[in-house]
Amino acid sequence: MTSDFETQLRAVSLRVTRPRLAVLAALRDHPHVDTDTVIALVRTDQPTVSHQAVYDVLRALTEAGLVRRIQPAGATARYECRVGDNHHHVVCRSCGTIADVDCAVGHAPCLTASDDHGFNVDEAEVVYWGTCPGCATDRTSQ
Ligand SMILES: [Zn+2]
Ligand SMILES: [Zn+2]
Repeated sequence: MTSDFETQLRAVSLRVTRPRLAVLAALRDHPHVDTDTVIALVRTDQPTVSHQAVYDVLRALTEAGLVRRIQPAGATARYECRVGDNHHHVVCRSCGTIADVDCAVGHAPCLTASDDHGFNVDEAEVVYWGTCPGCATDRTSQ
């Protein structure tokens, strides 16, 4: 599986480094985590990696399109390596848990603006907000 990541990095002309491979692996296993969590995950394998190194890797991978950065209103930025499929997210208002929601249309923009004001619209940002099953259970059991 490491070789998949190497292929991805080479495809966007990024050098293959251990921190880059570790960040991609962390995001594959733990989608929608914030920077601090990525750092903690990478450090389980590479204890000496610095905060700055992980920040730099996340920025490089995001700019190269291998990683998607999402930032629901009021939340810290999260990262995932599922890119290019225009999927959406459902966010728990209570605990901030995020889950993927496949786009029903499959490509952006998946909502047609009733009036595009002459803009060439290329994306509709859709975030579903609600209460996750865990938080819903907590609420009813109180
Ligand atoms: Zn929740
Ligand atoms: Zn996602």
